[in-house]
Amino acid sequence: MIVNSERTIALTCPACQGFQKHTFSLFSISKKPLQLVCSCGFSQGHLRRINKHFEVDVLSVEGDRARVLIPKGQFFAMPLVDLLSPLNGESLGYLGDPAHVQDRILDGQSAFSLTSDDFANPEVMRDILQLLEDLAEGDNIRCECEHPSIGIDVYPDQVELVCSYCGSMVQIEASTRRHQERLAKVGQIVMEPCTSHFLGEWLKPLT
Ligand SMILES: [Zn+2]
Ligand SMILES: [Zn+2]
Repeated sequence: MIVNSERTIALTCPACQGFQKHTFSLFSISKKPLQLVCSCGFSQGHLRRINKHFEVDVLSVEGDRARVLIPKGQFFAMPLVDLLSPLNGESLGYLGDPAHVQDRILDGQSAFSLTSDDFANPEVMRDILQLLEDLAEGDNIRCECEHPSIGIDVYPDQVELVCSYCGSMVQIEASTRRHQERLAKVGQIVMEPCTSHFLGEWLKPLT
């Protein structure tokens, strides 16, 4: 199965000057670039994964090429990232949770940027997201419903895995080393359709 977590990138198009949104799954981004083509037909650039970073390579509203590297952890964890041109600091657009990106476009105010302060324990959160990503890559996070489609919601002190098809959810505490150590022992997370449980009840240790 494919672990699915939606993200949206919204970019100002140099050709039509409008905001163009592109929505994609977090885990669908690979070394093969995702081409970002505006509805007016103008190719704005691409998004792709390079090792521990995601690369946004686009044309700014003034037509200058801008390349932004976003650390993987940030890309996963932050509901909204302000994309700024490294050349002159001008805004290129926004990247993040589709609802946050939409709000940001609508209100046009300065974005709130999540920093380490927003997590109860940033290091534990980073490690837990990495563990979850490793599990996902090995197809070890799944839901037993008919059409599993699992996304990740990140909160200051916990992560929720949610199946958008059946609504099943697993909460994973993510604020102490103990939480991290517990997750590190998990070989598989299998979600039951339409139920909500704490991870502790679903531990399937590596043996
Ligand atoms: Zn356009
Ligand atoms: Zn499901």
